[in-house]
Amino acid sequence: MHCPFCQAQDTKVIDSRLVGDGSQIRRRRECELCQARFTTFETADLALPRIIKSDGERQPFNGTKLKAGMLRALEKRPLSSEEVDAVFGNVLTQIRQLGEREIPSRMLGEIVMKSLKSVDQVAYVRFASVYRDFQDIEEFAQEISTLSKEKKRSKTSKK
Ligand SMILES: [Zn+2]
Repeated sequence: MHCPFCQAQDTKVIDSRLVGDGSQIRRRRECELCQARFTTFETADLALPRIIKSDGERQPFNGTKLKAGMLRALEKRPLSSEEVDAVFGNVLTQIRQLGEREIPSRMLGEIVMKSLKSVDQVAYVRFASVYRDFQDIEEFAQEISTLSKEKKRSKTSKK
């Protein structure tokens, strides 16, 4: 990293240690040109990204709203609250692993849909119908028939 004092191209790490609970690394650096010493901290960037809506507006990530949407889709479905929490946690992990500062709301929707699809197909269709803004009932029906085809396929493959 560049020296913040003289802008030299390279600085030397003279000490490196874990701080806090080990989730952060503190590095002591020295500039070989001007001999200035300074400290840097390195942490994993796990902040949730901002959401870019289809009209271009940016909104802070709203986990409460997202979970409420998922719960609505999972209403009266045979999933325990532990299972729902696990799906929600899995969605957050996937979003964090993208490492992006901003993601389109559509991408968020796709991640949620994929996660719901793996646990409950009815919840998936419910969520998808809201999130994807189906153009018409035909498109919606198509999505459902895709699902039943996939079901048949997985039954056949089990034989
Ligand atoms: Zn320097």
